[in-house]
Amino acid sequence: MSASAKSEPPIMEKIVSLCKRRGFIYQSSEIYGGCGGVWDYGPLGAELKRNLRDAWWRTMTREREDVLGLDACILMNPAIWAASGHVATFADLMRECSLTNKRVRADHVDPQDGILMNYSGAQSATGWKLPRAIAVLMKKGEHIESFRKRVRLLIASNAGEAAGKPEEIELLDETKGDTVEQSIDYHPETGAALGEARPFNLMLKTYLGPTATEADVTYLRPETAQAIFAQFKNVFDSSRVKVPFGICQIGKAFRNEVTPKNFTFRSREFEQMELEFFIKPDEAVEIISGSVAAWSEGADLSGPKPDWGWQMWHRYWVDQRTKFYQSIGLGDVLEYYWQSPADLAHYARACVDILCEFPFGTEELEGIAARGDFDLSQHQKHSGKSLEIFDEELKTAATALTEEAKEALIQRRLATELAKEKGALTEAEVRAWFERLCKGFYLPHVIEPSAGLDRMALAVLAKAFHQYEKEDGKGKSETITILRLHPSIAPVKVGVFPLLKNKPELVSKAREVYQLIKGRLNSFYDEAGAIGRRYARQDEIGTPFCVTVDFETLGEQGEELKDTVTVRERDGGAQHRVKISELTCWLANRL
Ligand code: ATP
Repeated sequence: MSASAKSEPPIMEKIVSLCKRRGFIYQSSEIYGGCGGVWDYGPLGAELKRNLRDAWWRTMTREREDVLGLDACILMNPAIWAASGHVATFADLMRECSLTNKRVRADHVDPQDGILMNYSGAQSATGWKLPRAIAVLMKKGEHIESFRKRVRLLIASNAGEAAGKPEEIELLDETKGDTVEQSIDYHPETGAALGEARPFNLMLKTYLGPTATEADVTYLRPETAQAIFAQFKNVFDSSRVKVPFGICQIGKAFRNEVTPKNFTFRSREFEQMELEFFIKPDEAVEIISGSVAAWSEGADLSGPKPDWGWQMWHRYWVDQRTKFYQSIGLGDVLEYYWQSPADLAHYARACVDILCEFPFGTEELEGIAARGDFDLSQHQKHSGKSLEIFDEELKTAATALTEEAKEALIQRRLATELAKEKGALTEAEVRAWFERLCKGFYLPHVIEPSAGLDRMALAVLAKAFHQYEKEDGKGKSETITILRLHPSIAPVKVGVFPLLKNKPELVSKAREVYQLIKGRLNSFYDEAGAIGRRYARQDEIGTPFCVTVDFETLGEQGEELKDTVTVRERDGGAQHRVKISELTCWLANRL
């Protein structure tokens, strides 16, 4: 998105303001000064989110034969988080500001340049003294006096009442340091020197039960995926499914993000939409089908084939998810970041981030990872319960394998294990695994498309947001806002208006039309103000169609137009004459 003109607020500010003004998104607990990194969805936001959630659920499970749904709890046995690795490693590296103790993610510190000022201390009129020396970067172009004022303010805000008023704080022993360029050692907001990077666990701790001791500690889930792994065997046993199949879930997740930012993009409470798609290990595919399909550019991904291994399934899901984003109007703002082998987690075979162009940069919308059997094997190990499945077709096919063919498969797996830096199986473990495989038993591998609902909502809002200047009749310029949301996800589908408010026949007919439509399509009735204003109000919230009951509807312009209405399209403003009896169908076909 292009940078905004200097005199105008940045585009993101305009989006945040529209969201509040029209009831899409509000700051949580606003009347109490807010609650960092937490957002509430107003009436229109709730509808938008519901439409996105429904679209995802429909395409991921209802329209498929091979994916089932799950609705698991936010609270789980904490052993799950130990098994998944979240207790030990779900941490961001953080650095602390020496002036305010504010933390910032080590990878969010961008180079800054300016002049370094050193203070051996500061003291206030009340005698309070800064306990340690500080180094603060005077940013390029910053005036020395406004810089000093800023530092005093920061000290006062951090030290509380004891520090006194900012102007009473004397900065002691100010020494001008070097001109620093491209340094990475300063807090992005305060400019004060940063401490060493230290890990900071992102899980939100809570207590289950009334005693609130360390033994009662559990966590608000930081992702929905783990419940799917923990319930994998129950779903498999109760649903008569065969691998490959998937389990999907939509639900809240919580992360104690240190620097929640960019509106809802990085929140502390958010909603995820995740699929775990379970597939046969490649060796099982090879035993059954004779070979494993290799991926190459242009490969046919239109529908699953029996000889697909993890690579084809991974590509397939990237393709499916891309089609989904195209269907909600984001097709032309996507980019893909394929993680390099160095970026990948030790168990992952591939991971692609689907990125989207936001006003603040191109950022992750969804990650699609090929995770091998890491998750199920961790839960099998930690719970002591077998999570293997039995595959009759595999057992039968394995009986036809020659000893040479078996040894070749073992050797290939051994070579893969040898190449691993971490978590490699020993030769004995590989042979034991292969023996189980030939008897038809294995832990399925997994492909995981994991999307964030709040990021998706923000992405469609940002993509849809358009403003332009228009002259009104009196030569005055006004700013027109249009949300060009894809009709299928727009919170309100139809605005229904009588042409004039003071004509009872028009009003009663319009209310009749409204009653007819609203059961099937979320609609809004409006009779206040000039018709142009009413169109504008609907454009601003992304309503794709407006229906006006006019004198033609009443039959005053001829019998052939009686019981027809004007339907006006948001994009382009085209107008159509549609019979009331066909209206609901006409609209539904275009959504
Ligand atoms: P990031 O690198 O942006 O922190 P991540 O790689 O940690 O994201 P995942 O753990 O892969 O994210 O989570 C899957 C999806 O959940 C993300 O692609 C994103 O859409 C969403 N998500 C993750 N963290 C947040 C958050 N703090 N706020 C909103 N959505 C989030």
